[in-house]
Amino acid sequence: MNNKFYITTAIDYTNDVIHVGHSYQKLLADVLARYHRLTGDETYFLTGTDEHGQKVEKSAAEKGIEPKEFVDKIAKENKKEWKSLNISYDRFIRTTDEDHIKFAQEFYLKSKATGDIYLSKYEGLYCEGCEAYLEESDLVDGKCPFHPNKEPQKLVEENYFFRLSKYQKFIEELLENNPEFIFPDSKRREILSFVKSGLRDFSVSRKNVRWGIPVPDDQEHTIYVWFDALINYLTYGVEKNCWPANIHVLGKDNQRFHAIFWPAMLKSAGYELPKTILVHNFFSLNGQKISKSLGNVVRPSELVAKYGADGVRYFFLRHGPLLGDVDITWDKLTEVYNADLANGLGNLVARVAKLCETSGFEFEEQKIGWYDDLDDKLKNYRFDEALGWLWEVLKKTDQLIELEKPWALSGEKLKEVLEKLVLQVRLAGYNLQPFLPETAEKILVQFKGPRIESGAPLFPRIK
Ligand SMILES: [Zn+2]
Repeated sequence: MNNKFYITTAIDYTNDVIHVGHSYQKLLADVLARYHRLTGDETYFLTGTDEHGQKVEKSAAEKGIEPKEFVDKIAKENKKEWKSLNISYDRFIRTTDEDHIKFAQEFYLKSKATGDIYLSKYEGLYCEGCEAYLEESDLVDGKCPFHPNKEPQKLVEENYFFRLSKYQKFIEELLENNPEFIFPDSKRREILSFVKSGLRDFSVSRKNVRWGIPVPDDQEHTIYVWFDALINYLTYGVEKNCWPANIHVLGKDNQRFHAIFWPAMLKSAGYELPKTILVHNFFSLNGQKISKSLGNVVRPSELVAKYGADGVRYFFLRHGPLLGDVDITWDKLTEVYNADLANGLGNLVARVAKLCETSGFEFEEQKIGWYDDLDDKLKNYRFDEALGWLWEVLKKTDQLIELEKPWALSGEKLKEVLEKLVLQVRLAGYNLQPFLPETAEKILVQFKGPRIESGAPLFPRIK
């Protein structure tokens, strides 16, 4: 029997089309999904969109269209963006999908049946201009970002609450006794210390948000965020019989919800917990946060048009914000592309192909597989180190050419050297499959044998 491997990303909120800042986590998940497929695991890779709530309702109203029409457009655009980067998800789930709505309602009732959901008063800040509650995180200088001249009011509303406080000890023990539950460990310790400061119940419904999943036993309410969005993982996992997820990949803005709320909710409704939560950091662009208001939003497809999908994939996977925040610039991307891809990998492949072609070299294809070191690095989620390690191997192969000078050799000695070089290139092609799928395929096709011919450059230089 094959192992099942179920991997998810956070689902993107649909008040706007995703930008390049959202792409890092999709790439990490994509590498793991491709890797597990290649190792023979029965792999399930889920991504999608979080489509309910007030902000979507408002963005749609600003455009004068219905929320559903609005999110249909965003979801379609997002899918195009992920396609440009070759994100190989198996399902793109939308929280407006019927199976999800049904499942979220069932989950809510299961949790309620255990006594973990109760009606109480929610006290929050309300903006008269928006006719909506504001989250603390929405405020800019203590005011609504859309109505900075109106003082937000304190209002009280009836909400359903989830009894998170009941799971204080459960969550503490989970985080303390399962170091593999959160990667990297620094995040686990950070979350644990937050948990120890005391967990408070959180609200799971709203009375005045119409664009949402109705609370099944109280139609005056709609389900609020977490009991809608997080459930998407389970909707698909239960359908495909692949729950629990092996790994949830998400940004640090989402870590508390996934590491605290989610396990408590699952325990409450009687489901197993996911095995690992991989939390990544953020990147800024030229020292600035990427945001619409700063006017520096770039879509992944715009970068792909210039650097190719694999050019973008390489840069983020090698230099992305895995363990800490990083600042990137497009100059750096161009520099890395030219150095590591055009000159590095691309040049090496072209050189070896040319040597084989001119000498009429022929070889018999042998079975190749994963490098153990690469395997280890991926099992420890060190995507950056895996590529760094592979590039060291490429460098050594380059050095081998300089050392052996095959252009000055002939006969058996030449054959022996070329055999070594061809094997190294084929191994690179094989091991690059999860990271740079298009390039890997080109290499493996070009170096299939018995004869090898020169081809177009893998990575044309960029000015
Ligand atoms: Zn407002």
